[in-house]
Formats: sequence, C-alpha cells, structure tokens
Amino acid sequence: FEPQTLTILGATGSIGLNTLAVAAQHPERFQLYAVTAHSNVTAMEQICREHKPRIAVMADVHAAADLKVRIADTSVQVLSGQQALADVAAAADMTMAAIVGAAGLMPTMAAVMAGKRVLLANKEALVMSGQLFMNAVVEHGAILLPIDSEHNAIFQCLPVAAQLSLGDQSLTTAGISKIILTGSGGPFRELPLADLAHQSPQAACAHPNWSMGQKISVDSATMLNKGLEYIEARWLFNCQQHELDVLLHPQSIIHSMVRYTDGSVLAQMGEPDMRTPIAYGLSYPDRIVSGVKALDFEQVGALTFCKPDPERYPCLQLAQDACWQGQWATTSLNAANEVAVAAFLNQRIRFTAIADVCAEVVGRIEAQELNSFEAILSVDHQARHYAEEIVEKYAVC
Ligand code: NDP
Ligand code: MG
Repeated sequence: FEPQTLTILGATGSIGLNTLAVAAQHPERFQLYAVTAHSNVTAMEQICREHKPRIAVMADVHAAADLKVRIADTSVQVLSGQQALADVAAAADMTMAAIVGAAGLMPTMAAVMAGKRVLLANKEALVMSGQLFMNAVVEHGAILLPIDSEHNAIFQCLPVAAQLSLGDQSLTTAGISKIILTGSGGPFRELPLADLAHQSPQAACAHPNWSMGQKISVDSATMLNKGLEYIEARWLFNCQQHELDVLLHPQSIIHSMVRYTDGSVLAQMGEPDMRTPIAYGLSYPDRIVSGVKALDFEQVGALTFCKPDPERYPCLQLAQDACWQGQWATTSLNAANEVAVAAFLNQRIRFTAIADVCAEVVGRIEAQELNSFEAILSVDHQARHYAEEIVEKYAVC
C-alpha cells in the first residue's frame, strides 16, 4: 500500500514527540507531511532535521522567521499563522490533533471538516464544542480516533459497529450499560488535605505514572483532567448521565472499561505509555509495533480501585456538573481552568484556588445556547476575562 501522509499539530509537545517516535518506526506506512508548534524553535529545528517533514508551521510569526533562517539549508518549507495551521491540518490523510488547550480547536476542526482521519489528543477542543464537533464529524465523514488513553481504551473495548459510528449510536443498542473511566488520582492522592494549598507547580507536575505536558499534569493533580475526560467521553460515546462513571485506579494499568448488559466487563490494559494509544490510532484497524515494552503482570502485582474523594478533587465534581448543565458551562469551565492553571504555574495563585476560580467563573456566565463556533469562542473569551479578574482576588502576592 501507499504510505499515508501525516500532519502533527503540536509536534514539539509530549504527544507530538511520541507520535514522531512511533511513526518513524514505520516509514513504509507513514509519510510526514507537516509538523506544527507555537514558538519552540529549537525543538522544531531538531524535528525538521531528524524527521524531514515537507512543511513546518510556527503559530508565532517571529518564531517562524527565526526557524526559516535556522533551517535554510534544508528543503522544509516554513509557514506561520492560524490559516497555515488549518491548511496543513486539512491537507494530510491523517492529522494528530495534539495542540494543548483551546488553541487547538480551529486547527482540529479544519481536519474534521476536510473529512480526514483525525487522531484526537486535544480533549479541550471537544470539551469546548461537544455537539457541534461530533455533528461535523458525521457531516463531513471524518474518521475520529480517540488518543486520550482512557477513550482509546474504551474505543478498543467497543464492538466494531459502535467504533464506526462514534457519537451516533446509543450505548444501549450496543449492549453497553456503563462506561467506566479510570484515573490514578495524580500525585496528591494520599497527601493530607491541609497540605494541598501549599503544593508547588513542580510537585503538581510530578505525576506518579505518566510523563506529560505541564497543563495536563496540573489537571491530573486537580483531577479536572478526569472531569474533562468525562465530558469528552459523553460526546465521543453518546453517554447518558447514568451510563458514565469515574473510578480511581492508582496503578494506571487498566486504562478504562466497558460494562455490557450480559455481565461482561472489557478492560484495556497496558504500560502507562502514550505510544500505545498513538500507535493504535495511527494504524487502526491494524496493530503495529509501538516501542512500548510488554506489560509484566508479576511485576505489577495488585490492581486496586476506589471512589474519588470529592473533598480532595472538587474540580472533578465541577466538571461532572457542567457536563449536564450545558455547553456554555463546559466551555467556560475549560477556559477558566486554562487561565487558573497558567496562574498556578506562574505561582500567582495556590493549587487549591484553581477550583475556586473555575467555580466562580462558571457561576458568572449566563446559561445560554451555543449553536455556532463564533458563540463558543465568544463565551471562551468572556470566561477568560472573568477568570483573570478572579485570579487577582486569589493572588498570593
Ligand atoms: P505539551 O504542552 O507537551 O505540548 C503542546 C503543544 O502544543 C506544543 O507543540 C506547543 O508548541 C503547541 N502549542 C501550545 N500553544 C499553542 C498555540 N497557542 N498555538 C499553536 N500551538 C500551540 O502538551 P501535551 O503533548 O501534553 O498535550 C497535548 C494535548 O494532548 C492536550 O490537549 C492534552 O490534554 C492531550 N493529552 C496529552 C496526554 C499526554 O500524555 N501528554 C495524554 C492525553 C491527552 P510549543 O512547543 O512551541 O509551545
Ligand atoms: Mg487521559
């Protein structure tokens, strides 16, 4: 067969680099079309020299100018700006959507609207636009493959018919009674509650099982990440409220589960390493080597499970509530969280203030229908504005 062309949005990030690593093991299958980043020119230069894409896009204009000079001796074409991001996302056979945060929405949508195979890591895009995103997938005949490890696990445990009609079919039709999202509980799972307020960005980013970008690492510590994943699962798998649960599983060996009406529970297991879901997304329905070592059950020992403690993880409850309140609530929660996490990483607010900022922002946004991307971006903008104000109130210095 012909190799498939691949665009990686967010190539310099944790998911982006893992995608490059998996694709490079299979040059007969994948041909790198374009890679994108925001402003990290050094990382991008190295990617261009090692992986030789046709196009490199820097969202930042100055970074693009810098990159152009640095790689003038190569044949890589350098572009910049939002239109270029959308163009390369739409042009390849498959696009890995791995920009972090709301910035990924429009480039990811460009791939969806071009009817391409879309590997979705950028959960914020789906959280922000839910129904509109899933409608566009169906309307434009895009093939959506979830890369978030939990959703990838669930996808792997679905019947083929349900895999091929993501977001469309009811779970009942597929004989499914529940989707069970598992999560480790992050680095602060056993910390005394009184100590949470004094945790540093470095401690929050030190995840016990997964190595990831900073924003998602903080989201894992607050468990807002599981909350965003709850919303993501609702849209991907067309869940009703009673069909979706969250369970703590500290070992991160089971990546999520599907409970069927006949009493069967299917779980996907593996090392906590994103190269497995990435490889699955790249090669589906085939299986390819990912470079991840085989799971050693004797070394793993016990697998344990418990309920998440609502006092420790208020952000999880906020997200679960927002999920069923309406699109305005999840869009504004996502925006508020991005601002709050950035403020925490810059040591402007305490770890525990992230939940306070999120709750206050969602409380201030008016309930409303969001029926267009313009309306979504407008609420995102307003929520960020409120969040900046509220961050000032919680600022530590
Ligand atoms: P990183 O922070 O490691 O990487 C983010 C990437 O996005 C970088 O390439 C960055 O470029 C680019 N980027 C950041 N801001 C912009 C912007 N404004 N415009 C264009 N590009 C931008 O993130 P991760 O790889 O950890 O996460 C990426 C996405 O995948 C997130 O949505 C996350 O939730 C999701 N995900 C990640 C997992 C993981 O294991 N890391 C697991 C499951 C989901 P630059 O380097 O130039 O700043
Ligand atoms: Mg995940």
